[in-house]
Parts: sequence; structure tokens; C-alpha cells
Amino acid sequence: MNACEECREQLPGLVLQALEADEVEKLQAHLSGCSGCQESLAELRVTFQAADAWQVPDPPADLRARIQLAAARRVSWWQAFKLALDRLACYRPTPRAGLVGVLLGICLFGLVLYPTTRRYYSGGTAAGCRNNQNILRSALADYARDHQGRYPASLDDLHGKYLQATPICPESAIDSYSATYQVSPRADRYTLSCQSEHRP
Ligand SMILES: [Zn+2]
Ligand SMILES: [Zn+2]
Repeated sequence: MNACEECREQLPGLVLQALEADEVEKLQAHLSGCSGCQESLAELRVTFQAADAWQVPDPPADLRARIQLAAARRVSWWQAFKLALDRLACYRPTPRAGLVGVLLGICLFGLVLYPTTRRYYSGGTAAGCRNNQNILRSALADYARDHQGRYPASLDDLHGKYLQATPICPESAIDSYSATYQVSPRADRYTLSCQSEHRP
């Protein structure tokens, strides 16, 4: 990670006054010589609508005192974030700041939730598909019991008495079973699976 990336990662903490004093000093040193990061900081400030003005590259005289105060208060990230939200609620954000805030929120939300929901979802679809196949196998068994042990030529023959409708695989959102259903020449055996590729 280069100096600018490191700096930008810490900028939200700077705006929310949630950094340690030595971290702030290090950031300040980088900011005073980097116009790119100064611009990022300015945009963040608009986003968070922080009430306090923080001049870069000339820090106000009370900077050190305020850092020490913030450190002494030991503001947690969450408290600082809530504080910023409260401040935000007092302002009417400009459309651009509002947009940036919404996008930032969506990104954070996605970053935190995407991996877990994705895993849950695919686990759910694979389990749902297995359940569908169990329903089909049980309907086929019922059918064979009523037909001298012979299975139907097509899953459609189950409709009505044995099955309301052929289920839909949650992975592909189509009936991915009918095409795989095959019955032996003497109709005493069958094979059944799902056409769609299930992620592990
Ligand atoms: Zn920089
Ligand atoms: Zn499936």
C-alpha cells in the first residue's frame, strides 16, 4: 500500500476525529504535501458535513487541543459515526453530498453483507433443489406403486394425483428436472437429476 492509499484509508477516521494523536500527525504530514489527498479529504468533509472547519495545510491553533480532547473522550468509531449522522440530519445536504453519502453507504453495506448473503443464498438454492428432487422421487414412487412398479414416461404424467406441478430449481428458476428424467425400456427404473450447475 503506498502512502496515498494508506492516507485515504484513514481519512474517514480523521473526519470523525476517531484517530489517535500520532496517527493524525502522520496524516497531517502527508496531507500538507499531497493535493490529491487534500481533495479527497475535502470531499469526505462535504459527505460527512462535519461542523468543524479543518484547514489543510494550515491546521488551526487549537488542533492539538482538539485531538487531545477527542482522544481523552475515547470516542468509539460507532459513537463518532452516530455523531456524524446526527450532524448530517441537521443539514440539508447538497445533492452531490447526498449522492456521495448514499453511494458510500451502499458500498459499505455491500462489502459487509455480500459474502455472507451470497454463501447463504447458494446454500439455500442447493438445499431447495435437493428438496425438489426428493418431492419428485416420492411422487414417482407413489406412481409406481399404483402402476405395477412402472414409472411414467414423463414427469408430466405425475401431474394431478401425484404432483401439483413440476417444481422449479431455485438456482435456474426453471423446471430443470423434466429434461433429465429418463425411464428404462421396461419402465422399472429411472434416472433424475437437475440440469443447472449448482455452486458448491
Ligand atoms: Zn496522498
Ligand atoms: Zn437444481
